[in-house]
Amino acid sequence: MKKVAVVGGGMAGLAAAYYLDRGAREAGRALEVSLFEASDHLGGKVRSLSDGPYRLEGGPDAVVRYKPWFLQLVRELGLEDRVVGTQPAKPAALIYKGGRGHPLPEGLNVVIPSRFGPLLTTPLLSPAGKLRAGLDLFLPRGPEGDEPFGAFIERRLGREVWRNLAAPLTGGIYGGDPYELSTLAAFPMLKELERKHRSLILGSLAAMRKRKGSREGGGLFASLSGGLGEVARAIQEQTPGVRWRMQSPVERADREEKGWYLFGPWGTERFDAVVLATPAPAAAAVLEPLDRELARILRSIPYGSAATVTFALEADAVPPPRGHGVLIAAGEGFAARGFTWLSRKWANRTPADKLLVRAYFSGEAADGSEEELEKAALADLARLLGFEPWPQRTWTFRWPRGMPQYTVGHLERVAEIEKALGRWPGLELIGAAYRGVGLPEVVRDGRQAAERLLASLA
Ligand SMILES: Cc1cc2nc3c(=O)[nH]c(=O)nc-3n(C[C@H](O)[C@H](O)[C@H](O)COP(=O)(O)OP(=O)(O)OC[C@H]3O[C@@H](n4cnc5c(N)ncnc54)[C@H](O)[C@@H]3O)c2cc1C
Repeated sequence: MKKVAVVGGGMAGLAAAYYLDRGAREAGRALEVSLFEASDHLGGKVRSLSDGPYRLEGGPDAVVRYKPWFLQLVRELGLEDRVVGTQPAKPAALIYKGGRGHPLPEGLNVVIPSRFGPLLTTPLLSPAGKLRAGLDLFLPRGPEGDEPFGAFIERRLGREVWRNLAAPLTGGIYGGDPYELSTLAAFPMLKELERKHRSLILGSLAAMRKRKGSREGGGLFASLSGGLGEVARAIQEQTPGVRWRMQSPVERADREEKGWYLFGPWGTERFDAVVLATPAPAAAAVLEPLDRELARILRSIPYGSAATVTFALEADAVPPPRGHGVLIAAGEGFAARGFTWLSRKWANRTPADKLLVRAYFSGEAADGSEEELEKAALADLARLLGFEPWPQRTWTFRWPRGMPQYTVGHLERVAEIEKALGRWPGLELIGAAYRGVGLPEVVRDGRQAAERLLASLA
C-alpha cells in the first residue's frame, strides 16, 4: 500500500488529507494517509471557540463567496445547511478618520469604487481627493510589471484613496505594511482591470455588474453556524482512514531510493510522498538537510505578526454599533487596524444582552505580549467609543511572525520554489505562504496537491 504524509493540520493540510483519502477511495485504491500536526489542535489559524454562551473566532472569521473552493469543500462534507451569511448591515462598515467613523462608500470592488454617487458624497475624501480619484478615468495604462500595492493605488487613484480607503481595507489581510505588497501577487485582478480596461473605475463598473453579492446585502462573506472550525472537525470525522498524528512535529525529511523518510520526536517513518503544509519557515527547517537552496528561498518569504483581542461587553453599556465593524484609516495613531462587532456581523454568537467586539492587530503592533495587546485594544476601543468600556471577558490570540507577506518579488520566489520542487518527485509544498493567503486559496492548494499526487502515485 502506498503511504502519503501530510505535515501540518491547518486548512491546507486538512484539505490535502481529505482529498487524498477521498480520491483514493473513489478510485478503489489503497492509500494510507498520515497527518502530522505539531500542536493538539486541528485547523491551524482557524480557532473557532465556544466558551459558555459565547462563540467567537480567534483567527479567520469569514470566507469570500466568490472564491469557491472552501465552500465547495463544505458542500462535499455535507455541511451546506450549516453555511451562514453575515447579517445585513448598511453601511457594511465604517472607516475611522479625523475623530469619527464614516460609512464605507457603497459599491467598492475590493478597493476600487464602482459607483460614482457614494464616491462623490463620502466625507472620507476631500474635494481635491475626489477629483484626483476621478483622474483614473483619463490616465493612460501604467507599466505591465509588478509594483508596490500602495504605489499602484496612488498612481491610479491618488494618495487620499490609498490612506483613507485602500490601506484600511487591505491592511489586515497580510501581516505588515500593505503599501509594500506585490500588486501582481496580492491583487492580480486589479492589475488585470488596468490591463484590460485602462481605467480601474471603468473596469470595476463592468466587473461589479457581473459579480453577485455585495458587502451591504450580506452576500459577500460566509461562515458556518458553529464557526469555520466545523470544517476541520467534519474532515476528521469523515476520514476515519487517515492516521491523525497529533502533537507530532516533523523535524526533518530525507529522501532515499525507497522513498521519503520523516523524523521527529515520535520516531522515523517512510512514505512514498510528502505534503508539507506548514508555514514556510517550518518547511525550510524540515528540508534544510536535504536541499539548502530550497530552504533558503523558503526563508526569504517575509513574515509579519497578527493578533486578535475579543471583548464581551454588556450590550446596553455601549451605543448600538453601526455596520459590522470599523477600519482605521492610515495615520490615525491607533495600534489596532480595526474592530469587528462579531455579534452584529453574525447571528447567534452571543446572548442578546451581550456584545462581542474583536480588535485586529497586524505587523509590529501585533508583536506585543497578551497583556500589552489587551491594554492597547482597550485604549483604542475607548477612543473609538468616547469612554472606557468594562469588558466582562477577554480572549487573546497571537501569531508572532505567522502571516506571510506577498511583497514585490513574491511571484518570482514562488516560481523558484516550484523549480526546486522539480528536483524532488513526491514532494508538495502548500499553504498560505505560496499561492494565496485566504482560506479558499489554501483549500484549493491542498486539493490540487492531492490530485497531482494521486495521479503520480497511480
Ligand atoms: C487573525 C487572522 C485573521 C484572518 N482572517 C481571515 C479571513 O477572515 N478569511 C480568510 O480567508 N483568511 C483569513 N486569514 C488567513 C488564514 O487564516 C490563513 O492564511 C490560513 O488559515 C492558513 O492556513 P494554512 O493551512 O496554510 O496554515 P496554518 O493555519 O498556519 O497551519 C499550519 C499548521 O502546521 C502546523 N505545523 C507547523 N510546523 C509543523 C511541523 N514541523 N510539524 C507538524 N506540524 C507543523 C501548525 O501547528 C499549524 O497547525 C486570517 C489569519 C489570521 C491570523
